[in-house]
Amino acid sequence: MKRRDFIKGVGVGSVATAGMVGGIQNAAAAKTIKWKMVTSWPKNFPGLGTGANFLAKTINDMSGGRLKVKVYGANEIVPALEVFDAVSRGTAQMGHSGAYYWKGKHPATQFFTSVPFGLTAQEMNAWLYYGGGMQLWEELYDQFNLIPNAAGNTGVQMGGWFNKEINSVEDLKGLKMRIPGMGGEVLKRAGGTPVTLPGGEIYTSMQSGAIDATEWVGPYNDMAFGLYKVAKFYYSPGWHEPGSTMEAMINKDAFNKLPEELQVIVRAACKVANQDMLADYTARNNQALQTLVNRHKVQLRQFPDDVLKKLNSLAQEVVADVGKHDKLSEKIYQSFTAFKNSVIQWSAVSEQAYMKARELG
Ligand code: CA
Repeated sequence: MKRRDFIKGVGVGSVATAGMVGGIQNAAAAKTIKWKMVTSWPKNFPGLGTGANFLAKTINDMSGGRLKVKVYGANEIVPALEVFDAVSRGTAQMGHSGAYYWKGKHPATQFFTSVPFGLTAQEMNAWLYYGGGMQLWEELYDQFNLIPNAAGNTGVQMGGWFNKEINSVEDLKGLKMRIPGMGGEVLKRAGGTPVTLPGGEIYTSMQSGAIDATEWVGPYNDMAFGLYKVAKFYYSPGWHEPGSTMEAMINKDAFNKLPEELQVIVRAACKVANQDMLADYTARNNQALQTLVNRHKVQLRQFPDDVLKKLNSLAQEVVADVGKHDKLSEKIYQSFTAFKNSVIQWSAVSEQAYMKARELG
């Protein structure tokens, strides 16, 4: 009896000890970490803002509420184009934006959103995840105390809104157009004046005549801004942004403080958000395009081949020039260009050939 009691006692004691350790672990697990995510988008803006919301919610849900990310629209904590600095210095732990807005910080950031006549969304993801692009992006952002992630893609954008037809390269001369990144530099070399404005300022700038033309994203987003009210012609294709990656940048110190499993969750959630946004855009763009054309009587146009040919040749120069900025830019340029030249051959016999074949039906 005594012996049995003793064993029982040990047993009870062991259970009590195990329970205590478990309790300590549970207490650690229950500790909630709160992050701010600043964005370059108007709060809840379709596609971009809702994409940022989706990312935050995915992190919250995947972590069982241990990491709570709160999303802030442009101007709620910082203006749209100060997201990079805010996350870099730790005012916010996370930011959702587009890397090409930071060309003033480093010109090579532009390779990680979209390059004129560059990669489609599918090809861009292939370069980032399986072509060395992600490592180069990390190397570039490391000097700013940031960790980058691909966290959304708009797919092929539209060429933009104009109040006159673009029938030749001459028509681009003197044109003051909102067009960021390398696309803007291409326009400049074609004789136009590129302007960088956050999305929220496009409509009023078009309305007041401060700019003559603008690109934004595609039908889904452009309709949300009401751009059909301030311009007549809607041009395709978006040669300047054939598959724009949106980014989720993370303050490095904040990231390093996370338990390892939360770090994995944050990175995984970004990958989910990257895929989800592309699906959102692909599903809704055509719907919006039909409304723009049928209800709002927007005149759909395609840039003439010779205009595209000229812009393409200027784009090759612009992209190469960005590669000349410093050693890292050169490395990124070489990686991007080699990947593009290689994947173009596969895309020609796969996506491109199939889409051509489908049109025959
Ligand atoms: Ca755009």
